[in-house]
Amino acid sequence: MTQVVHEGLEQVRQGIRAAAQSAGRPASAITLIAVSKTFDAPDIEPVIAAGQRVFGENRVQEAQAKWPALKSGNPGLELHLIGPLQSNKAAQAVSLFDVIHTLDRPKIADAIAAEMNRQGRKLRLFAQINTGREPQKAGVLPDEAPDFIAACQARLGAALVGLMCIPPAEEDPAPHFRMLSGLARNAGLPSLSMGMSGDYPAAIRLGATHVRVGSAIFGTRTASPHPAAR
Ligand SMILES: *Cc1c(COP(=O)(O)O)cnc(C)c1O
Repeated sequence: MTQVVHEGLEQVRQGIRAAAQSAGRPASAITLIAVSKTFDAPDIEPVIAAGQRVFGENRVQEAQAKWPALKSGNPGLELHLIGPLQSNKAAQAVSLFDVIHTLDRPKIADAIAAEMNRQGRKLRLFAQINTGREPQKAGVLPDEAPDFIAACQARLGAALVGLMCIPPAEEDPAPHFRMLSGLARNAGLPSLSMGMSGDYPAAIRLGATHVRVGSAIFGTRTASPHPAAR
């Protein structure tokens, strides 16, 4: 069998192994989500051919346009929604995605719970915490996180697996990663979705179980602003 190598993916895999080793964690404890937003099939297919199976998208509409075809040609792919979700898109999101990282209000938790029931699908879910208290950013404020997490656990049970954050772009992310980790530990949640191209090694040292890496794999995006701008 020919081993297809994708340079960006290989570099990130090595970066994950190095960070895990320096933290005394097994690299297998960290799931790499290749964030393919703004990229189309010709850029995504080589990454699939190199063995990557887990991908992330931040818009339901964009993902719906490109992933059904990619999924049908490549069994075993897992798709993660890492961008904001409106409740009127919950049905579409629940049928297309395997994991949603952006629960941030009871209404969305309700809509997802109802759709999972209706469609007979079990997704894994993360609550998004706005650790930097940034007004333009989605996510629950840290003070409100324990109540929101409890409400999600009541609605969703074990489907709620963890917490997600996007630290402020200009700050040291470490305090944000520590805060997220503490909130998850207190709630008994095992998974932490944190770390992007610029900071995934730090996130892994602080306990990330899921890193969301786009540009370090696919190259610089031209079509879309930084997620902080959304
Ligand atoms: C785009 C995006 C990423 C990936 O960002 P890179 O800096 O390209 O690695 C991660 N998380 C979220 C929520 C995103 O929107």
